[in-house]
Amino acid sequence: MARVAIVTGGTRGIGEAISIALKNAGYTVAATYGGNDEAAAAFKEANGINVYKWDCGDAKSCADGIAQVTADLGDVDIVVNNAGITRDGMLHKMTAENWNDVIRTNLDSVFYMTKPVIEGMRERGFGRIISISSINGRKGQMGQANYSAAKAGLLGFTKALAQEGARKGITANVIAPGYINTEMVAAVPEKVLESIVGQIPVGRLGEAAEIARCVVFLASDDAGFITGACLDANGGQYMAS
Ligand code: NDP
Repeated sequence: MARVAIVTGGTRGIGEAISIALKNAGYTVAATYGGNDEAAAAFKEANGINVYKWDCGDAKSCADGIAQVTADLGDVDIVVNNAGITRDGMLHKMTAENWNDVIRTNLDSVFYMTKPVIEGMRERGFGRIISISSINGRKGQMGQANYSAAKAGLLGFTKALAQEGARKGITANVIAPGYINTEMVAAVPEKVLESIVGQIPVGRLGEAAEIARCVVFLASDDAGFITGACLDANGGQYMAS
C-alpha cells in the first residue's frame, strides 16, 4: 500500500510543488491549508490531491485534522511541516502579536503536527518528519527576529527528534531553502529582490520544484541513514559549516 504523506500548507507555493512531487513519487498525499479556499479548490481540481483545511498553529485542530486524514487515507507515514508565514519588522517595532503569530504558525505547529503521529510511527517502525526551515533561520535576517527564531527552532526540534526516533526507523530532517520564486517572495519590493538575487552565487531565485525534490529524497527509503540533518538549498547564498 502507498505510504501516506501530509504536507502542511500543501496547496500553494513550495508546498504545492511538494504535494505534487510526492504524489508523482507514488505517495498518497493530504495537502492542508489555512484559509485560502479558492487556491485549495483550484489545486485539488488540477491535481486530484485531497485537501484539508485547518489551522496548523492550533493543537486541537491538528489532532482532529490528522485523525480525519488517517480515517480517510490510512496511517500517516510522512509529515512535511511546510506551512509558514512572515510578519516582518525591526524588533523595536515588532508587536507581541506579530511575534506570537509567527512562532505559533511556524514552530508550535511542528509540535502539534508531529505529536499525534509519532506514537504510530514508533509502533510501525517507519516515519519521516521533514520540516521546511529557511536560510534566515540559519543566518538570521534583519527585520525577521520572529521568523529567524522560529526557523532556527526547527533545527533543535529536529536534532532531538532524530535521536529519539533513530532506533525506530523514524528520521527527522530539515530543509533550509534560500529565496524561492513564490508569492511570499513576490511580495518583497522589487529593489530589495534585485539586491537579494545579487547575493545568490547561482544568480537566480530557486524554484519550488527544486525544494520538492529534496523532500522526495528525504522521504524515501534511500535516505534512511540521513537524520538530524539540515539540507541547505540556497544557490550558495549561505554556506553553513
Ligand atoms: P506561501 O505563502 O506561498 O504558502 C503558505 C502555505 O501555508 C499556504 O498553503 C497557506 O495556506 C499555509 N498556511 C499558512 N498559515 C497557515 C496556518 N495557520 N494553518 C495552515 N496552513 C497555513 O509560502 P511559501 O510556499 O513561500 O513557503 C512555504 C514554506 O517555505 C514556509 O514555511 C516558508 O517559511 C518557507 N520558505 C520559503 C521561502 C521562499 O522563498 N518562499 C524561503 C525559505 C523558506 P492558505 O493557502 O490557506 O493561505
